[in-house]
Amino acid sequence: MVVILQKNATEAQVQNVVKHLEDYGFQIHKSTGTERTIIGAIGVKPNFDTRNISILDGVDEVYRVTTPFKLAGRSFQESNTVIKIKDVEIGGNHVVMMSGPCSVESEDQIFRLAKVVADSGATILRGGAFKPRTSPYAFQGMGEEGLKLMRAAADQYNLLVITEVMQIEQIDLIYKYADIFQVGARNMQNFSLLKELGKVDKPVMLKRGIAATIEEWLMSAEYILSGGNKDVVLCERGIRTFENYTRNTFDLSAIPVVHKKSHLPIIADPSHATGLRDQVPPMARAAVAAGADGLMIEFHHDPETALSDGPQALLPNTYLKLMEELRLIAKAIGRTL
Ligand code: PEP
Ligand code: MN
Repeated sequence: MVVILQKNATEAQVQNVVKHLEDYGFQIHKSTGTERTIIGAIGVKPNFDTRNISILDGVDEVYRVTTPFKLAGRSFQESNTVIKIKDVEIGGNHVVMMSGPCSVESEDQIFRLAKVVADSGATILRGGAFKPRTSPYAFQGMGEEGLKLMRAAADQYNLLVITEVMQIEQIDLIYKYADIFQVGARNMQNFSLLKELGKVDKPVMLKRGIAATIEEWLMSAEYILSGGNKDVVLCERGIRTFENYTRNTFDLSAIPVVHKKSHLPIIADPSHATGLRDQVPPMARAAVAAGADGLMIEFHHDPETALSDGPQALLPNTYLKLMEELRLIAKAIGRTL
């Protein structure tokens, strides 16, 4: 941590800051320039709240040098985490596709869409059985029946299943049917849920919260990792900004930032990030170009009648065409898809 004192800080204030830092257990390196004093506080304290120092008299600014996320950071593990689930790898050179409807709606729907997912060369079927809806009057998902249908459809076409878990009580049930737990944007800081998911032996995909900084998102990943579950995947799904021509603002730059800060794989979800189907293919192409380790895409055979997120669902043909384009982009950057 670096503490920069104000220009007019008195010697007594400098000494007071030094004393506080020493009391907190830091080693001190003081450098007194002609204009101001700068104190280097050495010591690894990921939980230290820098505000304890910024409020002291005479302090101008306080900067952290090390990151507060230990296990999710590159300093803990330099090489990329590659998660293996059956014969699928997430975080390797192959860009993984997680495709399917927003919600599982019926046997006919999920089998029909699972076939398209398999035909497209994607390996993971997405679909929600427990849905976090903004309105309590909107379709809430099919529950266990939806999970059963999804598992059966995935097995028929040799696909993996990713589905959302909203609360601790659903973990055991979802465990029986899914290969990957999805934690939705609204639950990114549901710390008790994250702690429980730290104990399961299946991968967890953690979506970025609607108003979360990348650091807060990585700290949430830290909850799962520190519980013992090392198989965490991040997913950028757009954040809330002042822009309202899109449902959310797709933070494409989160992809290189996460790759630099963390060894965990990052998936991009242009469907929720934009919320409108015509914006999904351009952003999906951009995400692959930016280095996403995978994409989550929603599509539906009849978006008009979809029970959730119809406006952002691609039609199967558009989805299949997009897959071809994505393959070309992946190839151009030395990856497969
Ligand atoms: C979803 O994937 O269906 C979903 C609800 O996503 P998010 O949590 O990103 O809104
Ligand atoms: Mn959705």
